[in-house]
Amino acid sequence: MPVEWLKGGLKLQGSALWFDARRQSEVSFVSHAHTDHIARHARAIGTKETLTLMQHRVGEVAEAVALAYGERFSFEALSLELFPAGHVLGAAQVRVTRPDGHRVVYTGDFSPGEFLTARRAEVPACDTLVVESTFGHPKYRFPPRAQVYDEVADWCRRQLERGVRPLLLAYSLGKSQESIQQLVARGLRVTAHDSIHAISSLYSALGVPIDARRFDGAFREGEVGLFPPFARHRPRVEGPVATAVLTGWALEPWGAGRAGADLAFPVSDHADYPSLLEFARATGAREVITLFGFAEELAAGLRKEGLFARAVSERLQLDLFDARVTPTPRARRR
Ligand SMILES: [Zn+2]
Repeated sequence: MPVEWLKGGLKLQGSALWFDARRQSEVSFVSHAHTDHIARHARAIGTKETLTLMQHRVGEVAEAVALAYGERFSFEALSLELFPAGHVLGAAQVRVTRPDGHRVVYTGDFSPGEFLTARRAEVPACDTLVVESTFGHPKYRFPPRAQVYDEVADWCRRQLERGVRPLLLAYSLGKSQESIQQLVARGLRVTAHDSIHAISSLYSALGVPIDARRFDGAFREGEVGLFPPFARHRPRVEGPVATAVLTGWALEPWGAGRAGADLAFPVSDHADYPSLLEFARATGAREVITLFGFAEELAAGLRKEGLFARAVSERLQLDLFDARVTPTPRARRR
C-alpha cells in the first residue's frame, strides 16, 4: 500500500509527507481547514485559503507553503499538484507523482457539484486513490444542493410569515458561508453568530464576499438566524422560534434530535454514496483506499464494481490482514 495509517493519521509510504496529519508534524499536506484535518505543523502545504483559515484556528505555522490549483510543487523526489475539492473554500485534493511515475491522489473531504463559495471538485486521474468515505454507505443519497436550499428558504419564509423566528444550525466553517450565500440568493437576510461571522470575514478578505450581519443579541425584522449546532451558542429569542439543522445526517432518523433541532435538511458538503462510486471510477485508479466514516462499506461497494479497494482505519491497522475486522464508522459532525 503506498500509504500507511499511523497514530497521527495518514502518511505517504517512504516519505516524510503526511496527509492531513492530526498531530503536529514536520510536513503535512492540509486539504482544508476543518478541525479534524489540521494541526500546527512545522511545514504545511495547502491552498492560500486553507492556510489562512487554518492559521485562524491553530495559530501561525513556521512555514506555510501556499499553492494554487494546478501549480506543481517539488518535495523530496515527488511532484505535488492540487485540485479543487468543492467542500469548503480552499479545499484541495493532492496528486503526488512518485519518481517511478505512480500517481497517488488523496482527496481529503470533497463534494461534487456547484458551490457558490468553493471551487467545483475536479476528478484527478491517478493509479492509487485515497478517498474519504464519510457517507460511504448505500443508504446515503443526497438530493441536489439547489433543491434542498429551495426547501430551506421556503421553510424560513413560512416561519417568518407566521411570526416565528427561523434559526438554522450549521457548522461554522464552510456550511455556514455557503448557506448564507444560498439564502441571500433566494431573497432572505441572515444574521450569524460571532464564530460564523469571523470566518465569513476571512472568506470576504480572501475574495469570496459573505453577506450576513454579525448577531448582536437582537434580531431585526425578517432576519434568519444562523448559529453553530452546539447548545451553548443558541441565542435567546423573544417569542416563538423554530430550529432546523443543515447536515448530511438529516437522512438519519436522529439527524434533527442530535442537534436539538425541530427538523433537519440534508445539506451536505460531502459526496454521497453514488457520487463516491462514480468519482472513484472516473479517476481510473487501479487501487482505491477508503478512509473515515463508512470506509469498509464503501470498499465493499467498490469491489462489487470490480475495483481493487480496501479500507484503512485505526482498527484495521491493528489487524490489517484479518478480513473479519470491520471498523466502527466514526460519526462526524459534518
Ligand atoms: Zn471537512
